[in-house]
Amino acid sequence: MNETQEKTPLEELNVDGVVIGVYDDLSAQAGNLKEYLTIGKFEGKGGQKRLLFNIDGIKAPMVAVVGMGKKEEIDLETIRNAAADGVKLLRDNGAKSVGIASLGDARATAEGVFLGLYRFDELMTMNSEKRPNLEQIIFSGDEEEIKEWLIGKTIAEAQNFARRLGELPSNIATPTYFVKQTQEAFKGIDNVKIKAFDEKWAEKEKMGAFLSVAKGSDEPAKFLVIEYNGGSEGQKPLAFVGKGITFDSGGISIKPSANMGAMRGDCSGAAATIGTILAIAKLGLKVNAVGVAPLTENMPGGHATKPSDVVFASNGKSIEVENTDAEGRMILSDALVYTEKTFDPHTIIDIATLTGAMVIALGEHYIGTFTRDDKLWEELKEASYKAGEPFWRMPLDKKYRKQIESTIADIKNTGGRPAGSITAAMFLAEFVERNRWAHLDIAGKAWSSSEKGYKPKGNLGVPVRALVQFAINHQKE
Ligand SMILES: [Zn+2]
Repeated sequence: MNETQEKTPLEELNVDGVVIGVYDDLSAQAGNLKEYLTIGKFEGKGGQKRLLFNIDGIKAPMVAVVGMGKKEEIDLETIRNAAADGVKLLRDNGAKSVGIASLGDARATAEGVFLGLYRFDELMTMNSEKRPNLEQIIFSGDEEEIKEWLIGKTIAEAQNFARRLGELPSNIATPTYFVKQTQEAFKGIDNVKIKAFDEKWAEKEKMGAFLSVAKGSDEPAKFLVIEYNGGSEGQKPLAFVGKGITFDSGGISIKPSANMGAMRGDCSGAAATIGTILAIAKLGLKVNAVGVAPLTENMPGGHATKPSDVVFASNGKSIEVENTDAEGRMILSDALVYTEKTFDPHTIIDIATLTGAMVIALGEHYIGTFTRDDKLWEELKEASYKAGEPFWRMPLDKKYRKQIESTIADIKNTGGRPAGSITAAMFLAEFVERNRWAHLDIAGKAWSSSEKGYKPKGNLGVPVRALVQFAINHQKE
């Protein structure tokens, strides 16, 4: 799809269709547009949409009218959804070229457009005529709006990159594939270094926890590190650490067959980590940032770790593997130790589809957030709400530590049914020393159960937008 920007007013664009946002008082509308909307009982509510033709004063034959709600209550989510609804309505009705202007915030408009148009259909070879595509999109705006539009486009495309890696099945998206896709995506971007370590390297690093997961699979594990230096020299980086289980069978503690296929998305934390650094680097933010992704399958092969095996993490702590399906915290433990000692970061944020308990606690609307640092929590909360990927703070209280005590090792990797996402966070806390650390359990929010506005049914690539916003805000510090 070809995308361009112009200063030509939307009404004069030579395209098949344009998107017009309308507030609930319809006051700004004139001519036959107001007449049609009134006849069609269009009230301008958020989520409403109509396809109209041949509107007075608009050159494009098709007009997608999207409701924006009350002008004084307009928020970025309404803008994202309206932008997505508008371009999708035109696309699905045969438009090949589409024009759009800022619906109140050019960056949110772009996010809505490029996230909304995203579809994971690359593995489908039949019936492509049923999946129409736009060939051209033109943004109409002034200089400042065009700048914001391009920022939104970059963030949306980085999130789509993460969505795709989260959606791809594990026979394609292996750890090796993740590395190749990352190298490809970062080609030509300044100030970036990518390293991909193998299992031999992990052995030298004494990453017994990471390797205890990898050894059940024949697929080679990888330990991916992306460094971006856009800030001043010596400035401590923001570190993002993502769980990259490219397929989670549960290992010897094998999962039930029903819905096991969804575990192709157990790499969503790694995908979001790579997407976040990709956006930060493409935007050229004035920060130093590092993304770390331990990548492996969790399989019940002949060498697989067995329940009650004891392994040693790279900080020397011994772990009793009570349940091999609690593998995310195993690979993250070594990744957190590595990140802290190698980069001495300003802040560490880990991102993981970590626990089923988080799905039970918060469903698909919030991301569970664990941190002991009140200021970091406030920063993350602000960024997440602005990005439309809201975080919710969960307790990280020492009272829960007792549940992960082992009778034969320093700790064990499960804490029983009560407070399962909190005991998982308590486990991770054993591998981070600094206070400015947050653990994001995205197990509930990583997938959307239905298509709505800019969200597809499926992997959402969260929380790329929230973390990029966090990095944008960090520049001012
Ligand atoms: Zn698991």
